[in-house]
Amino acid sequence: MFKSVNDILKNTEISRAEIIRLLSITDRAEHELLIKHAYSIKEKSIGRKVYLRGLIEFSNYCKKNCLYCGIRCGNTNVNRYSMTDEEILETVDLAIKNRISGIVLQSGEQQSAEFTDRITNLVLKIKQAINPEFRITLSLGEQSFDTYKAWFESGAQRYLLRIETSSEGLYRKIHPDNKLHDFKTRLKCLKDIHKAGFQTGTGVMIGLPFQTIENLADDLLFLKEMNIDMVGMGPYLEHADTPLYEYKNSLIPLNERFNLSLRMIAILRILMPNINIASTTALQSIVPMGREHGLKAGANVLMPNLTPGKYRGNYLLYDNKPCIDEEADDCIDCLSSRVQMIGEEIAYKDVGDSKHYKKRQQME
Ligand code: SAM
Ligand code: SF4
Repeated sequence: MFKSVNDILKNTEISRAEIIRLLSITDRAEHELLIKHAYSIKEKSIGRKVYLRGLIEFSNYCKKNCLYCGIRCGNTNVNRYSMTDEEILETVDLAIKNRISGIVLQSGEQQSAEFTDRITNLVLKIKQAINPEFRITLSLGEQSFDTYKAWFESGAQRYLLRIETSSEGLYRKIHPDNKLHDFKTRLKCLKDIHKAGFQTGTGVMIGLPFQTIENLADDLLFLKEMNIDMVGMGPYLEHADTPLYEYKNSLIPLNERFNLSLRMIAILRILMPNINIASTTALQSIVPMGREHGLKAGANVLMPNLTPGKYRGNYLLYDNKPCIDEEADDCIDCLSSRVQMIGEEIAYKDVGDSKHYKKRQQME
């Protein structure tokens, strides 16, 4: 029998059919009911707290050619850059001055012994220069198990590798057909990251060409099944210099993509009450207060962009990325007042490790 949203939310377990029903909501009141329910779960499990991670997009060199991404190697309109170690360390200082307890080092995908050593040394330098409590998250794509292990042992605690979609068929449609873009390799990397000891983060894009509601329901079940500690997922946004741009007229409208992304966050919060969920910049690209909406739907992490202004225009994953002509300080100031406006507060004194990870460690 067709259950009401109210009835679905009364149970602690939600079936795949019920997830599909929740993702398919079109009624405003039902949407709000779901969002409020997820927020109440976040309040109980985490509180009205937001953890900050300063994002440093330190290089846009990438050997891959993902069909959706603006900095794919095939895009010759991009000016390639790589910040020096000194510039990265200065940006880490800026994070500390702004009382941010951790950073995310992100770049295009590079795989070489030189790159592995550079990151190992950089992590060691950051850890030596600063309080060992300072948290480093890496988001540097697919690497060997030994590389992940070396980076974990040098002191990085968290790793983000989005699976992008849990459907192998859809994965093939949004990547070139070659060994460098292989779903099984990505999945193995995610498992290796977990095995290396990291707080493990993954995520998906929402509203991709060819993606169905069933795909998204399976994505949520995949995140649960993988026992993931942190999630960063957000709307897919088109970039004019990418092959997927030709499908722009077949995408779901932006406002629906936005609301669907909020429902994905909300359902995930219900399925996994104690993980960390990021409210992504891509939400802000659609709606100026988009990240705050993400927090109200159950997310609890924000990643203010600390990349120096001069590089930002060259790290455009999608068109209309926000804050590209701002310096980091501007962004952080506006962020804290925005968080207060929605009745939440930034947990400056808490490094914000995933509660799920801590619990997992006790059990393993
Ligand atoms: N190169 C690393 C990797 O792919 O894991 C890290 C950097 S990559 C730019 C970070 C994330 O950006 C990807 O995992 C992908 O989900 C997201 N991304 C890329 N293009 C996007 C787009 N057009 N819309 C939304 N997100 C996008
Ligand atoms: Fe490179 Fe990551 Fe963009 Fe793929 S998503 S092209 S790996 S930066």
